[in-house]
Amino acid sequence: MASWSRSRQPVIIPGVGSERGAALLVDLAGDQPCTQPGCGRTTGLACEYVDRRGHDCRTAWCPDHRLVIDGRVYCRRHAGVVSALPVGYVGHTAPMPDLETRAPSLVSWVAREVDADIRQLLLAALSDHRVQLVTDPVYLVFIGCDRRRAWERAWKLVDHSGQSLRISLLVEECADAEIAVRVNAGIVDRVTPPWIVQRLHGSVPPPEVDAQRRKDFNRRLLGIIHRGMEREGYRRPVVAGVRDAAEPVLQRP
Ligand SMILES: [Zn+2]
Ligand SMILES: [Zn+2]
Repeated sequence: MASWSRSRQPVIIPGVGSERGAALLVDLAGDQPCTQPGCGRTTGLACEYVDRRGHDCRTAWCPDHRLVIDGRVYCRRHAGVVSALPVGYVGHTAPMPDLETRAPSLVSWVAREVDADIRQLLLAALSDHRVQLVTDPVYLVFIGCDRRRAWERAWKLVDHSGQSLRISLLVEECADAEIAVRVNAGIVDRVTPPWIVQRLHGSVPPPEVDAQRRKDFNRRLLGIIHRGMEREGYRRPVVAGVRDAAEPVLQRP
């Protein structure tokens, strides 16, 4: 993911792999040309990602440009996908997301960005102290009558009477530029993150503009969740810094 600027710090998800093996792989010299543009080294090891259809990644990465998770070498994109999946998912005959999709990593990334705000919103909606907040990791769901594959991350409140409120963010594999916001069963709205809009248009805004757009995007997501909760009959909680952001914030510079 974007925070991994250096491959020499092995990225290890606890519970499955061997740290020693991962550390060795970080420096192990392979014999393939590195895919990183301009790198030129021939010490690459192949990205080990194989999707549910048996397609492999066909890239290779030198020690400086590879990422290692649980004893496997990955390119940056697939490291993002693998690290978004539940612990223990990889390597247990579970079908891996399609080679080209960014759905799991996008939903995981955005969910992490707004996790604290969503928890705050939910807990403000139900003031009963006996209420319980349960969160689900990123997992595969099938939506619509054509059972489209999507990756979802959910937060759920259950009160003492069994009443529950469920908020989720969801990205479909076939529309992986959009985050869908779901409150209980219904999808309230879909939005495209600003960095994807920028990439599609080939624009690179100054860092402060980029940061502001990301903040606006997070607020917009929370505004949509508000709307969905109101639709479900929940009173509007007063949360500092959250506003209804119905206006589009994803404009080109
Ligand atoms: Zn390289
Ligand atoms: Zn790869």
